[in-house]
Amino acid sequence: MEQPDVRLERVTKQFGDVKAVDDLSLSFDRGGFVALLGPSGCGKTTTLRMIGGFEEPTAGTVYLGEQDVTGLPPYKREVNTVFQNYALFPHMTIFDNVAFGIRQRGGGSKHQIAQQVGEMLELVQLAGFERRKPTQLSGGQAQRVALARALINKPRVLLLDEPLGALDLKLRKQMQIELKRIQTEVNITFIHVTHDQEEAMTMADRIAVMNQGQVEQIGPPGELYEQPRTAFVAGFLGVSNMVWATVTGPGTVQLHEGTVARVPQESLEGGHKELRIGVRPEKMRIVANGSGDGAGDANRLDGTVKDVSYIGVSTQYIIETAAGDELTVFAQNVGRSAERAAPGQKVGVLWDPEHTFVITDTREVPTLEEQL
Ligand code: ATP
Repeated sequence: MEQPDVRLERVTKQFGDVKAVDDLSLSFDRGGFVALLGPSGCGKTTTLRMIGGFEEPTAGTVYLGEQDVTGLPPYKREVNTVFQNYALFPHMTIFDNVAFGIRQRGGGSKHQIAQQVGEMLELVQLAGFERRKPTQLSGGQAQRVALARALINKPRVLLLDEPLGALDLKLRKQMQIELKRIQTEVNITFIHVTHDQEEAMTMADRIAVMNQGQVEQIGPPGELYEQPRTAFVAGFLGVSNMVWATVTGPGTVQLHEGTVARVPQESLEGGHKELRIGVRPEKMRIVANGSGDGAGDANRLDGTVKDVSYIGVSTQYIIETAAGDELTVFAQNVGRSAERAAPGQKVGVLWDPEHTFVITDTREVPTLEEQL
C-alpha cells in the first residue's frame, strides 16, 4: 500500500492542565481532502499546527511520508498553511505576494517566475489582478491569493485553518466549490480545519470528527451521516433522532414505550442489550393517527405534534412521543400548498428499518451550546 502523506502516531499535546490532543493516531492519504471537524476547543487547530510544525507534540511522532518531522521547524517541512486572516503582505502587489515563495527559494528566471505566477492566478481565477495591492481585493479574492501563494510552492500538504471563516455565507459557499475544484486540479493533500459541518461535507472526501482531543469517527461524509457510530457524531453532523431501546431478538428492538421496531440485523452484532436507535429527520414521514398509510414493513411511533415550522425547502415537525422523546421530522415541500399537520394533532411517524442506525455508546449527545 502507498505510504500515507501525513501520519500522526500516538500524538499528545498538553498545555498546562489542558490535554488539547490526546493520544491521537491518524493518517492522511496522498491527494485526499480531509476535514478535521469538531466543536470549539476539541483540538483541531492544535492537530493542524503540529502537522505544520508550529507546535511540538508533548508525546508521539509526526511523519510526512516516511520522514519523522516531529522536531522540524515549519520551513523545513513540505507543508504550507492558509490562514483565515489571509496574512498577505500588504505593501506588495498580488504578483509579488504570489511570487514570494519561489523568490525565497531563489527559484527560476524572471520569465519562469512570471509564468508560474500566471498559472497560479489562472488556477484561482484571478488572472489580470497582478498589479493590485491586497487592500484592493474583496475577502474572497484575498483568500484566493493566499491559496495561490501557498500552492505555488508545490507543497506536499496544504493545511487550511478555517480559511473561509471571514467570508459571508454566499461567498463562503462559492469558495467551498472553488476550493474543491482547485484541490482536484492540483491533487495535493488538503487538511482543512472547520467547525462548520456543511462546509466539511461539501468539500472533504473524508471527515474526521474530533471531540476532546480525539477522533470519534473518520470516513466519507455519507458514511458518517448515514452510519454514525457515536451519539456525538450523530448529534454533531446534522440533526438526529435518537431513542433508547432494548434488543429483543435478531434485528428487533423494543422502544421504551413498548413499541417494537426493526433495525438492520448486522447493526446489532455487537451484543449490546441497551442501546439507542437513530433515524435522520428526512427519513421519517408523518401520517394521520389511525392511518396505516401502506406502512408495510415500516417502523412506527405515535405521538403528538408539538411544533410546525415552515423552513422553505421543507417543513419541520417536532413530535412528542408517549415516552417523552422528541422527534424531528422534515417533510419536503414539494406540493404548492402542502397540507400540514397542526400542533396538538395526534400522528404516526413512520420510517424504514434500513434507515435506522444503532448507537451503542451511552454518553449523552452534546447540547447546541457545547457544539459551538
Ligand atoms: P477552535 O475551533 O475554537 O479554534 P479547536 O478545536 O481548534 O477550537 P484548539 O485550538 O486546538 O481547539 O484548542 C484545544 C484546547 O487547547 C483548548 O482547550 C484550548 O484552550 C487549548 N489551547 C490551545 N492552544 C493553547 C495554548 N497555546 N496555550 C494553552 N492552551 C491552549
